[in-house]
Amino acid sequence: MASPWARRGGLAWKYPFSRWGREVVEAAGLEISDLAYDPLLEPARRGARRRLAAAVGGRVYLGEGSWTPEVAVASYLTARLIVGRISDPYLGRLFGEHEGKRFYALASDEDPDVLSSLADDLEVDSERDGLLWGVALADYLPLARRISGSRWRLVNADVRRGRVWVRRRGFVRILQEAVRDRTSEAPDPGPLPPPLDEAAADVAAMLRERSARARRKSGAPGGFPPCVVDLLDRVRRGENLSHLERFTLAAYLLRVGWSEGEVIDLFRASPDFNERVASYQVRHIASKGYSPPGCERLREWGICRADCGLRSPLQFGRRARKVEGR
Ligand code: SF4
Repeated sequence: MASPWARRGGLAWKYPFSRWGREVVEAAGLEISDLAYDPLLEPARRGARRRLAAAVGGRVYLGEGSWTPEVAVASYLTARLIVGRISDPYLGRLFGEHEGKRFYALASDEDPDVLSSLADDLEVDSERDGLLWGVALADYLPLARRISGSRWRLVNADVRRGRVWVRRRGFVRILQEAVRDRTSEAPDPGPLPPPLDEAAADVAAMLRERSARARRKSGAPGGFPPCVVDLLDRVRRGENLSHLERFTLAAYLLRVGWSEGEVIDLFRASPDFNERVASYQVRHIASKGYSPPGCERLREWGICRADCGLRSPLQFGRRARKVEGR
């Protein structure tokens, strides 16, 4: 049977933000200089880069089975330092999304007592009753609001005694949102030792490349029309767009040459992003070949942002092309 410490080490490996992660930091006396220079933590530095590359690329990196708890926690801390140093809220959201998904992948079959302890660490007020967890309404509402699907709406939920009662998977999904909140904001630690500064420069370059790729894929000479620029900015800032706004943005981007995958990837920054629902909606728009609504309709809907003198946002690039060709 595994010793309690080995078990706690395994929990630190999976949940580095938790009490078990803090125990490892204290026991090992980890400092920023260790994260930067300790040769035994080289796998952690490599892991931090992979973690951030996965976050920027919209993938999930769970870590390596060979990692000790110290390396696993150091990888998380190093990645977080780099996110804080770069101080780009967009990267913060990508990292939070990554850590939330990693958590969900690792916690879905977790021991119920461990899940309750994690909820305490994440400051989610919960109570267990058999196979159900009751999440206090005040904590449930802001977390569930960002999850797509009618079953998360209060009107369809099991609400009793001021709590919303959910089964294990639902509870883990709620905690995923709490992990995302916890990890998407990292304070700027100030100047970092050179090895970490170099890693931060690499990650900043990846982020710039991602943006440049998105711009190149726009296929719209002269750039995007103001309404689309506004929608793009808002979705990248992590704002939830209305259904009409999402439709307009997706239909426009698909029409100017973005792939379905790239459009789905863009919406990953949305707080209520749901892969299955987003994939279905984007594929539906692509398969029907819908065009974005015309400017008059967009004005009515309050989506128009300037008087470009056009009938459709799709004309924006064409007009620029004509002007350039004169
Ligand atoms: S006029 Fe048309 S293209 Fe220009 S911002 Fe308004 S809706 Fe967009």
